[in-house]
Order: sequence, then structure tokens, then C-alpha cells
Amino acid sequence: MVSNCANPKCAKPLHYLREGKIFVFDVIVDSAGDASRRSRRMEHYWLCGVCSQTMVMEQSPEGVRVIPRSTPRLRGEISLRKSALFS
Ligand SMILES: [Zn+2]
Repeated sequence: MVSNCANPKCAKPLHYLREGKIFVFDVIVDSAGDASRRSRRMEHYWLCGVCSQTMVMEQSPEGVRVIPRSTPRLRGEISLRKSALFS
């Protein structure tokens, strides 16, 4: 089970599940390096309250990673700059 924040730069110990956000991913696991015996497993990851406000978790071909959350506020700022350019 999860014991620390999934952000390597934070790694805050998990004390309260109601804080932060839990992510569940269906991952392929090699059993003892034998590729023919791959199995699927549900992996749980946790981002603490602070990290979950600015980051989300995503499953990529390289594995599960922490990526910055794209906020609506940020998108608004970008479109504002665009409209200023065309006026
Ligand atoms: Zn954290």
C-alpha cells in the first residue's frame, strides 16, 4: 500500500487518506524478469494535499509519472495574451 507522496521531491509520509488524492493505475508487472509471465496489477499512488493542488499523475509507456496540473486559470491567461495580440 502507499506510504509516501508520489512526488519524489516531496515524499511526505501518508497519515490521513482524506488529505490529498489517490490515483489507481492498471500496470503490467514482469514476474522475476520473465516476460512471458507478465501479470496485471492495480497500483495505488498518493499525492499529498499540497502536491495534488499543482500536480496530477499520469500513466505513460515509461511508467507512472507525476506531471504538472494544467489549470483553467493558466489557460485563461494564455488566451488573454492571444486576444491582446490580435487586437
Ligand atoms: Zn507531496
